[in-house]
Amino acid sequence: VERGVMVTEDEINCCVGLGANPDRDGFVTLDACIMDHQFNCGSVAFLERIKHPVSVARRVMEKTPHVMLVGEGAQQFAVAEGFKLEPQELSPDAKKAYEKWLQNSKYEPQINRENVENKGHGPFAPSQIDGEWNHDTIGMVAIDSHGQLGGSCTTSGMGFKMRGRLGDSPIIGAGLYVDGEVGACTATGQGEDVIRVAGSHSVVEMMRQGYGPELACRKIIERIVKIKGDDVKKIQVAFLAINKNGVVGAYAIHKGFSYALKTNTTEKLIAAKSWFS
Ligand code: ASP
Repeated sequence: VERGVMVTEDEINCCVGLGANPDRDGFVTLDACIMDHQFNCGSVAFLERIKHPVSVARRVMEKTPHVMLVGEGAQQFAVAEGFKLEPQELSPDAKKAYEKWLQNSKYEPQINRENVENKGHGPFAPSQIDGEWNHDTIGMVAIDSHGQLGGSCTTSGMGFKMRGRLGDSPIIGAGLYVDGEVGACTATGQGEDVIRVAGSHSVVEMMRQGYGPELACRKIIERIVKIKGDDVKKIQVAFLAINKNGVVGAYAIHKGFSYALKTNTTEKLIAAKSWFS
């Protein structure tokens, strides 16, 4: 799960990693976390100038007595662990998007959409709509040949966010949760609304109660829909889950969220069901 999301972190002009959209002050700040089947977990947030936040999160898990490191401290730790400090510069696409955003500087969270039809960026690449990346997170949940679960989540957070703003993605229980006896879940979309319902943890608890992954995701989407009332039209949230038996499911508020499924025999992009069609 670390290596899996590193592929996306590596992409220039992409939605996560250093090539992603900056905060409203023009700085790219990254959040990531990782968790295994035995409740070991690590997380970094508000991390700048480090290419692979998920790998730093793994080091936090493996080399410190802590779960979470943020900001300058996380960066210091990364450098001490041998990670290279990258130059503070925007990718060409992020620069263009930021300059465009600066024209109005409108502080309004955008619905996170994903084009189900892949536009030629490969099966696991996020898609583009009208030349802009609309998906700011990659989460991965997996099961190995011994039935052991794991998960990772990495993001640049919401584009043009307030400086210092954290979403759900680096928060264990919100953007990611793994219970080796039950299942794993990761989230994407409006982080604030995922945090409010302890999203990924809640989905895993639904699976513990016997719901299949898709229905478990739907149950927590339903909770968010109820909480948000009319405002639900303005936000997107999606959950992706796997249970102990390797059954996978996902559910989103709005249409358009898709996920990649990889097994020994399959590799495909699947459109998740959604509350609103
Ligand atoms: N969940 C991320 C955040 O709120 C954003 C996203 O998934 O697009 O920071």
